[in-house]
Amino acid sequence: MTEQEINNIRADFPILTEQVYNKPLIYFDNAATTQKPQAVLDRINYGYKHLNANIHRGVHYLSQKATEAHEEARKYVAHFINATSSSEVIFTRGTTEAINLVAFSFGECCCRAGDEIIISMMEHHSNIVPWQMLCERKGMRLRVIPINEKGELRLDVFGELINENTRLVAVTQVSNVLGTVNPVKEIIQTAHQRNIPVLIDGAQAVPHIQVDVQELDADFYVFSGHKIYTPTGIGVLYGKREWLERIPPYQGGGEMIQTVTFEKTTYNELPFKFEAGTPDYIGSTALAEALKYVENIGIQKIAAYENELTAYATAELMKIEGMRIFGTSEHKSAVISFLVGNIHPYDIGMLLDKLGIAVRTGHHCAQPLIDHLGIPGTVRASFSFYNTKEEVDIFIAALKRVIGMLG
Ligand code: PMP
Repeated sequence: MTEQEINNIRADFPILTEQVYNKPLIYFDNAATTQKPQAVLDRINYGYKHLNANIHRGVHYLSQKATEAHEEARKYVAHFINATSSSEVIFTRGTTEAINLVAFSFGECCCRAGDEIIISMMEHHSNIVPWQMLCERKGMRLRVIPINEKGELRLDVFGELINENTRLVAVTQVSNVLGTVNPVKEIIQTAHQRNIPVLIDGAQAVPHIQVDVQELDADFYVFSGHKIYTPTGIGVLYGKREWLERIPPYQGGGEMIQTVTFEKTTYNELPFKFEAGTPDYIGSTALAEALKYVENIGIQKIAAYENELTAYATAELMKIEGMRIFGTSEHKSAVISFLVGNIHPYDIGMLLDKLGIAVRTGHHCAQPLIDHLGIPGTVRASFSFYNTKEEVDIFIAALKRVIGMLG
């Protein structure tokens, strides 16, 4: 991307001109959540100003318009991830809710005592705990794919973990700590050879990588809107039709029913079967707007730029004495986790903050991984296409200053 293109993009994100402690904000916490472009903010405003009425049930004009907008948004999401049909796109509150939905509903239909679920060492808590809860409920066992010293999945061990008790594999496409991009297509192929379905946590992948659920052949694919330039509170569960039809509803309530009597309820068709209650019909349109924004720039172009920025930041960081970077795979996304000497990550984060630089410190909701690495946590810088080399330079200079103060 040219400097002009990046400047134009930056101008679309109002928050990037904010000052913190009288310093220009440098926002390197994009893996936690991304900032929102004006077009998305405008779409929310427009929705509430001109199109606000509860959807699906209304005969009146506004309700029909709001329903159309919500369903158009669903179609756009389906297009963005290349789902076969928009009825395979379920709106959820985010990745976490989507995984809980699958863990509950798949657990109900398809799991029993003695069965096993395979996850990996680098999962976010939201792709660990729901499966653990399922295992406790049903008397099942969680199996974990280990990682190598570069922070890559040990696929040789994965092959050994699969057996006749394996019911499902749930892995992240991109690690939010290590930045590793996992070979999920290969993982899916291996699991499918044994007829085992696979759920992919796409929370950190969708903003940075072209995702094609048909090409991957994923059975379930989940992500959060807020990590791809959308407000919080909306996310997506993609599921293959055959699975979504087979698994029972997650929550009961309005919208998800066909008929209700006190004796028996019949459920609505897809995707509504999984969308109990009033959906976030403004959030869905904001999500579609954000995806259009990303698509207009081009995900390949975004990936190339972010990779360049990450490589530059990595090279600069590596020049610092005592630097340890966690996650050194050749297949990496825009996340760098590091420690310097034996300085506590929290201290680095606190002092960088005072210099206007937002990074995240701690276990990044991946405590088992952090424990495995035998460290107290990391400092994590994560990038978006609106970040610049100049910001990286300021960050490196600030980090050196901070190390001088703490070292
Ligand atoms: N999985 C991964 C890999 C993540 O990075 C995150 C967010 N940090 C989540 C799941 C959970 O996403 P959310 O909190 O939006 O549900």
